[in-house]
Amino acid sequence: MPDPVIILGAGPAGLACAYQILEQSPGRRVVILDKAPFVGGAGGSFQWKGHTLDFGPHAFHTRGDAPERMVRGLFADQPDLLIQGRKQVHVYLRGKRLKYPLQISETVLKFNPLLSLLIVIEFLLTSIFHALVSIPIENFEAWGKKRFGPTLYKMSFGDYTEKVWKTKAAKISEKFASEKIQGFSFINLIRRLLRIGGQVTEPYFQTWIYHKYGSGRLYARLAEEIRASGGEILLGTGVRSINHGERRVLSLLLEPGIPCPELPCGWLVNTVPLPAFVKLFGGQVPFVVRHAASKLRYISLILVYIEFALDRVSDDHWFYLLDPKFRFNRVTEQKNLSAFTMEPGKTVLSLELTCRVGDEQWRMSDAELFELAKQDCRNIHYVRDKMIHITDYHVKRVPNVYEIYFKGFDQHAESLLDYLSGFENVSTIGRRGLFLQGDQHQSVEMGFQMAGLLANGCPDGQALDAFLRKYAKYIDDY
Ligand SMILES: Cc1cc2nc3c(=O)[nH]c(=O)nc-3n(C[C@H](O)[C@H](O)[C@H](O)COP(=O)(O)OP(=O)(O)OC[C@H]3O[C@@H](n4cnc5c(N)ncnc54)[C@H](O)[C@@H]3O)c2cc1C
Repeated sequence: MPDPVIILGAGPAGLACAYQILEQSPGRRVVILDKAPFVGGAGGSFQWKGHTLDFGPHAFHTRGDAPERMVRGLFADQPDLLIQGRKQVHVYLRGKRLKYPLQISETVLKFNPLLSLLIVIEFLLTSIFHALVSIPIENFEAWGKKRFGPTLYKMSFGDYTEKVWKTKAAKISEKFASEKIQGFSFINLIRRLLRIGGQVTEPYFQTWIYHKYGSGRLYARLAEEIRASGGEILLGTGVRSINHGERRVLSLLLEPGIPCPELPCGWLVNTVPLPAFVKLFGGQVPFVVRHAASKLRYISLILVYIEFALDRVSDDHWFYLLDPKFRFNRVTEQKNLSAFTMEPGKTVLSLELTCRVGDEQWRMSDAELFELAKQDCRNIHYVRDKMIHITDYHVKRVPNVYEIYFKGFDQHAESLLDYLSGFENVSTIGRRGLFLQGDQHQSVEMGFQMAGLLANGCPDGQALDAFLRKYAKYIDDY
């Protein structure tokens, strides 16, 4: 029997890849390894008291494409287990609760008229200036100011970006903006105000599906299907190192204590964080590549879950705290995705705080973090009045969860991808594996694409290159 396809990581990308390989090539040996004790990666769920909680509610975005069809197909026999809906998102800006995507009537008209006038004048002057003078845009701040003018940029993106990433926006790559905010256009807002057209821009996906009992159930079902088709999923299984020759990965050496210490490898699909993956190749990795790996950084996340003895606190799914006075970035109410994830008569808000492993906030006790979260709750008018109904709290710390697009990150990531492309039986996919800012359906799509390439034997360098260029858009064309 040929050596197996080994997939590192049982998140959306790894599971989707295994599922599709087994669909297209029944009988092929596929082994998934994950160091976590559960499947689903960041899209998994856990139990707290009678609640099923996600690591921040995870709605699966829908576009009528293959990832959505896969999810619906998994539950074809019980379609009522899937709930579908439209995102209900608000932002808190200058003490006002505004609908998101921003509506012109609110953005311009709800503020002090002088501020609105300033925003419009700045925008016009900035646009004229940039039409006359060509200045290279070298960071996120410059990108935002050019596109929106200084005041609107600072209010709507600048302050928030610095809070989330704990760094000056001038240090963040302009490529971050093109990944995350490209759909937002101030011109469209103005056009709609003047009633001369202007499409409704939707920078984020607006429609979703969600498992009635939490995001993790979707991946648990996917894992069941993989196992039923003969795939192996080894959870709680860390990899110590990768045994490789000059151009081929030969086997994976697993952490001590695992019954089979070495797994031979026919093809290796990676979905774990890119720098951690390259580190597994050991001391033969060239210094420049190891240096580039050390420059790819992450921000970590603390989730404070607050339980209320109330049916609902709000009708929002996501509520962004844009004003700098807030310590937390975002509040979510998972019950608004599915009431079945909560104990009857209760709801849970999750408050998200980004930080670095080991910093002051990371080291705070759970009780201190709860106090910090309550301070923010007191500044949110619709939560403040309901705080007397708080009954309990729970804290989760998730290290290194968001990729930081510091200036130059693209060259560092490219250096790692270039190194890996020297191996004829390795591919790297998914949010983590490509150092992307993507969502679940994008990871699933990449899993499918890679499975398609593997179904025809072993993809050649050209096919892998085309794959990278499609998904790692930050790599400049040459
Ligand atoms: C707070 C938050 C909210 C989000 N909300 C949404 C949302 O609403 N909708 C949406 O579509 N997306 C959302 N996302 C993004 C979504 O989580 C990711 O896009 C998706 O999980 C990426 O899937 P992946 O398989 O590429 O990576 P992951 O889900 O990160 O999976 C990687 C897997 O690799 C494993 N692993 C890591 N290191 C090792 C190792 N050394 N050895 C073995 N295994 C390892 C991990 O345990 C994990 O299971 C959110 C992300 C966060 C952080």
